[in-house]
Amino acid sequence: MRGVWNSCLMATSYPSASEDHAARGLHADPLPSAVTVLVVEDEPDIANAIANRLAAEGWTAEIAGDGLAAVEAAARLRPDVVILDVMLPGIDGLEVCRRIQAERPVPVLMLTARDDETDVLVGLGVGADDYMTKPFSMRELVARTKSLLRRVSRAGRIAEEGAMPLPTIVAGDVQIDRAQRRVSRAGELVHLTPTEFDLLVTLAVTPRTVLTREKLLADVWDWVDASGTRTVDSHIKALRRKLGADLIRTVHGVGYAFEPQDGA
Ligand code: CA
Repeated sequence: MRGVWNSCLMATSYPSASEDHAARGLHADPLPSAVTVLVVEDEPDIANAIANRLAAEGWTAEIAGDGLAAVEAAARLRPDVVILDVMLPGIDGLEVCRRIQAERPVPVLMLTARDDETDVLVGLGVGADDYMTKPFSMRELVARTKSLLRRVSRAGRIAEEGAMPLPTIVAGDVQIDRAQRRVSRAGELVHLTPTEFDLLVTLAVTPRTVLTREKLLADVWDWVDASGTRTVDSHIKALRRKLGADLIRTVHGVGYAFEPQDGA
């Protein structure tokens, strides 16, 4: 079963989303000037509400009502971001994610029906970058979509400007090559999603230091709201599953710390 998701796991780099190189501040990455969003949702009321809200941001939003239409629309539209419901008729959101990512890497915000589903989805490594549980507020949906676009725009800029040498982090038997965005442990390459990679780097640059969930949300997701802390927990679980449980320590009620085994 796991093999089904592998091509989503390989979505480790994005096409650069932004042509706007002007006036970039450290904490104020601009959004791309024209944003196209693909909304994949079979419930018309929800789909229309999302599309209307995104249109109010000045974005172009197109709705696909089932999985096959979503795959077709993604290839045709080349959206900047996909908002993707898991439960769809025909092929489900996970398979849609896999097929879309196989064609062209694109950030995906997944909509789930239940909170505990997020754990399962992150565990499967479907390659989604963020998850929201229904029911959600439109304000939160827009905020999370914007933070996703900002992150991709930033990653694209770093890749384009390539000259900025980001030193590789070596901690015990873990190597984190920030320029190539590759991670290995004991010489074995480990495939991480873009979000998992960013989370690992954020922890690893300050080893043995506890970072709160709120701090991680703000730094990795550009998102400051306690409702998102479960997303952090789920992605930590995924990192542990891929890299080994010993690398990241839980400080109950506080947050997480990167704990390399020696050196660093
Ligand atoms: Ca649905």
